[in-house]
Amino acid sequence: MKKQSASTWSVEKSEELYGFNRWGTGHFGVDDEGFAEVRPVPDGPTIRIMDVVDEAAGMGIKAPMVIRFQDLLRHRVQRLNQAFRRAIREENYKGDYRGVFPIKVNQLREVVEEIMSAGKDYNHGLEAGSKPELMIALAMHDSNQRLIICNGYKDNDYIRLALLGRKLGKRIIIVIEQLGEVDDIIRISQELDVKPLIGFRIKLQTRGEGKWSSSSGDNAKFGLNTAEILFAIEKLKAAKLSKSLKLVHFHIGSQVPNILTIKNAVVEATRFYCQLAKMGFPMGYLDIGGGLGVDYDGSRTNFESSMNYTLEEYARDVVSNVMDICEASNVRVPDLISESGRAIVAPHSMLVVEVFERINKKETLRQQHLPKQKHDIVYALEAQLKNKSRLGRLERFHDALQKKEEALSLFNLGYLDIENRAAAESLFWQICEKIDREDNEAGYQPEELRDLKKLLADQYVCNFSVFQSLLDHWALKQLFPVVPLHRLKEKPTVNAILVDITCDSDGKISSFIDLQDTKDYLTLHSLNGKPYYLGIFLTGAYQDIMGDLHNLFGRVSEAHVFLEPDEPNGFYIEEAINGSRIAEVIEGVQYQWEELCRRMKAQIDTATRKDLVKPREGVRLLEFYETQLQTKTYLNIERAKRKKRQKK
Ligand SMILES: *Cc1c(COP(=O)(O)O)cnc(C)c1O
Repeated sequence: MKKQSASTWSVEKSEELYGFNRWGTGHFGVDDEGFAEVRPVPDGPTIRIMDVVDEAAGMGIKAPMVIRFQDLLRHRVQRLNQAFRRAIREENYKGDYRGVFPIKVNQLREVVEEIMSAGKDYNHGLEAGSKPELMIALAMHDSNQRLIICNGYKDNDYIRLALLGRKLGKRIIIVIEQLGEVDDIIRISQELDVKPLIGFRIKLQTRGEGKWSSSSGDNAKFGLNTAEILFAIEKLKAAKLSKSLKLVHFHIGSQVPNILTIKNAVVEATRFYCQLAKMGFPMGYLDIGGGLGVDYDGSRTNFESSMNYTLEEYARDVVSNVMDICEASNVRVPDLISESGRAIVAPHSMLVVEVFERINKKETLRQQHLPKQKHDIVYALEAQLKNKSRLGRLERFHDALQKKEEALSLFNLGYLDIENRAAAESLFWQICEKIDREDNEAGYQPEELRDLKKLLADQYVCNFSVFQSLLDHWALKQLFPVVPLHRLKEKPTVNAILVDITCDSDGKISSFIDLQDTKDYLTLHSLNGKPYYLGIFLTGAYQDIMGDLHNLFGRVSEAHVFLEPDEPNGFYIEEAINGSRIAEVIEGVQYQWEELCRRMKAQIDTATRKDLVKPREGVRLLEFYETQLQTKTYLNIERAKRKKRQKK
């Protein structure tokens, strides 16, 4: 049986089906044994992801878990910097590139530390968008060659903190987002007797494209419009702070799929830069913000989950456009800053989830459930299933729909018993399945028939929460590659969508990457009683931090993986972080676990007095309650026990 499927299916077919070679950009693929693998650095060794899952299990870390490939993170920092260095060399550009990592994209200490370490030779700096992030940036920043860029809304203490950095000699630039901030900065820098470095965030007319496009344009919530820039200039001049103006900044939104948008924005911002330089301000930096994309679906298009350019093309376009305009305006070229966050961190981490249940609506009835007396409507559906009159597919689908609805009405009116209703539903799905199986025409299909596959798809229940681990999928329909981590030599046979364990019908993944547009289901392997793991990839940007406490599931466990040629599987797990425990998440909503235990004890005591439970049993119940508080919030899937129960 296995041999047969191996001969009709292959690792290559899995690679093609799941798109590894497209979105994986050389980092992700399938090995000869049918396991998903990661290649953290190009031309380097590979790691079998299931080996990491197994090793983490030995350390007490189970799915759902985030795996971080620290070497891949380092590689992204280097690749971004090298791309700009090469472009600068090739264009003979007379300025430098100074990247800054926007902390909001992934605040985890290990991530920020790795980026700082990998960016040492490139003087890669940090960007803060809030006071807490600035406090991280100030402390983690270790060289005055590296920049700190301060964005976001600022209160007086935010400004004081930034100026504290100035006092320490840090190259820390406060970017003015609102006209009101100018007065605050002037006043506080006089108070503290320190000269600030100042940038203007400019509200560009060039609009982003894609999901985050409202970050620019007339109604954007950040940035100065042209008149406000002129007001801000007057204020700086009056305060004798003209020398402080160093930078022009823009950010047109994250994940810009189209390189033309980026070119236009760079041109517009460089014009502002040149105008300010010609007015005599010292300037020196042009900050092009974030927006550098990640090709989540691998289609290389300007579709919102993709990008129609490479990182190298991005760097070349920025460098050459800035240079052209500066030359034409006779202005010295600026050092270039980008605040690329997503492009650096998205690929380095992934989520592993375990599928533990299949919800299948197409179940055929077992003998003992068949109606003792078949209702006419069941006979009618049986006849439709046989299809003696050889009707077309669409007509049969409509006939079946009609009968099913009739059956449901009859049930509601009390004319159909539960066995007959079950038979009617079961027959309906069998008819749909048969119609779908007869689909062998290529080319055009009526929409209803195309949607049949979606209608027939099973639900695979996965031990995770979309609201914690994949918030952008829920909120913005952002797509991520989802693939099995093993069994890739076997032919997948089940069309399924994924549902999570929250009590929320929105807690699901029902659209998937595809080369054309999106897919409504994923073809997966049938469950065989053994653990089945899926990987959700490219989740390193934003998803780690935006998750919430829906159903109090909380944070998932993490494993931080480093390449290590001396280890048997080529890697070691440097750090294993445990996911949230129940006691922690309930404290987050103001319950104290001691108090809950006390209340449970009182209730158990009462029950004991009433002889509802025996004293010994009461003690055991309380102990069980107390130990559960220290366990993880996600499901503890106990396969062996489930099997035993099934046998009985
Ligand atoms: C969010 C943000 C970024 C990061 O954008 P990416 O597209 O993730 O690179 C950069 N700059 C500012 C001002 C931001 O708000």
